[in-house]
Amino acid sequence: MPIDFTLSDPQRRLRDSARCFANDVLSGVRDASRNLPTATERFAATRPFYEQAIGAGFLRRLIPQPFGGEGAGYIDMAIVAEEFYAVDVNVSLTLFANLLGLMPLFLAGSADQHARFVAPFLAGVGAPLAAFASSEPGGSANYAAPAPAEGVRTTARRDGNTWVLDGTKQWISSATGWDAGGADLLCVVCRTDSDAPPERGISVIAVPRPERGLTLIRAPETLGHRAHLVPRFRLAQVRVPLDHLIGAPGQGKAIVDASFGATAALVGLMGVGLMRAAFGFALEFARTQRRGGARPIIEHQAVGYAMADAKTAIEAARYLGWKACHAMDAQAPGAPEMAVHSKILGSESAVRVITALMSVVGIDSYDHELPLAGLLQDALVLPLFDGGNMGVRRRQLHELLAGPDYDPMAAADA
Ligand SMILES: Cc1cc2nc3c(=O)[nH]c(=O)nc-3n(C[C@H](O)[C@H](O)[C@H](O)COP(=O)(O)OP(=O)(O)OC[C@H]3O[C@@H](n4cnc5c(N)ncnc54)[C@H](O)[C@@H]3O)c2cc1C
Repeated sequence: MPIDFTLSDPQRRLRDSARCFANDVLSGVRDASRNLPTATERFAATRPFYEQAIGAGFLRRLIPQPFGGEGAGYIDMAIVAEEFYAVDVNVSLTLFANLLGLMPLFLAGSADQHARFVAPFLAGVGAPLAAFASSEPGGSANYAAPAPAEGVRTTARRDGNTWVLDGTKQWISSATGWDAGGADLLCVVCRTDSDAPPERGISVIAVPRPERGLTLIRAPETLGHRAHLVPRFRLAQVRVPLDHLIGAPGQGKAIVDASFGATAALVGLMGVGLMRAAFGFALEFARTQRRGGARPIIEHQAVGYAMADAKTAIEAARYLGWKACHAMDAQAPGAPEMAVHSKILGSESAVRVITALMSVVGIDSYDHELPLAGLLQDALVLPLFDGGNMGVRRRQLHELLAGPDYDPMAAADA
């Protein structure tokens, strides 16, 4: 098939319905949450919006078909990520965090685990939350480093027919749920064999909302994504049956890498959504504002060139992201590399482009009455989360490039 970036009819319909939903519903999230004093209160205020997203079928629409959803793949996720992020990051990240939370099950879960754990997320009612609990206080960049490095500190010990989990996690999207009692499902990265090397000693265990043992320690006051919850919490003697282990014992490193790898391409599209919103505002401003001069500022060459550069970056990031998602859908050998390129380009362009657009608008962009300052605050996390760009460059790209079998054309052929 020739290269063709035309969306199919179902993809077009998905884009249109996501755009409508974002403009009609998600546009209200900011006013409903912005003046509340704590992260937990702001997160709670997003629940009615999140319930509408679930009720409108967006989560079911994105969960891949083999697991009972209607999702046709990563391109669908990319379309929704851009449309939602262009209007609101908070409910959007809560929604997408479910896909990261369920990813270990998609990648390595058994049919029985799919039936038990994925089903609540397909129902299209309520406000179900799934979380992927990898990051820990003290840092997780070296989570799979061999001894004497600490790596993953959360442990799961076998006791009869159960795993007993102990440890502290932080920065975990939605992990403590709407009421601090826990998300509906946590996929917890933990050490199941303290003597084995990381490739065999780390596992992922499914923990449905526990009756006891989960405690919220603190919900950080973040720079952006102010109404999204990324708590620090403790697991103390949390028990689950042995068959909650996802994949084989010790398969955790492979699952963690593949899970973050799968979402990397989408982070690039989140950046596109934010840039698109900033560009739309700056263009309107430049076309209508004279700033005391004789002509609208768009007619000044410096402004026109800055707008042109911004638009080039947005278009480039979108189509690199789509290419990466297409490669993921096709399970092409170059897909993991493409996903990282999408994340790096989309996230770092977002920070750079929104900053440049603030220069176009000038000093008024520094006022939160205008959207650009908030968009920059939201964009700043894109290079930091999902493994961090320092980390994905090092662990994924550098490792690939240094490998003896690396094929520089694999990404182009993906
Ligand atoms: C909004 C939001 C949502 C998030 N959601 C989740 C989630 O759902 N689940 C989850 O598990 N996490 C989540 N996180 C955490 C996020 O994924 C982080 O990217 C992750 O914790 C890794 O952070 P880090 O790379 O900065 O690691 P850290 O271990 O904190 O490392 C810090 C820095 O140390 C340096 N460094 C460390 N080791 C090396 C090395 N070997 N070589 C070179 N430099 C090194 C790098 O400069 C690195 O940036 C979220 C964070 C945010 C803000």
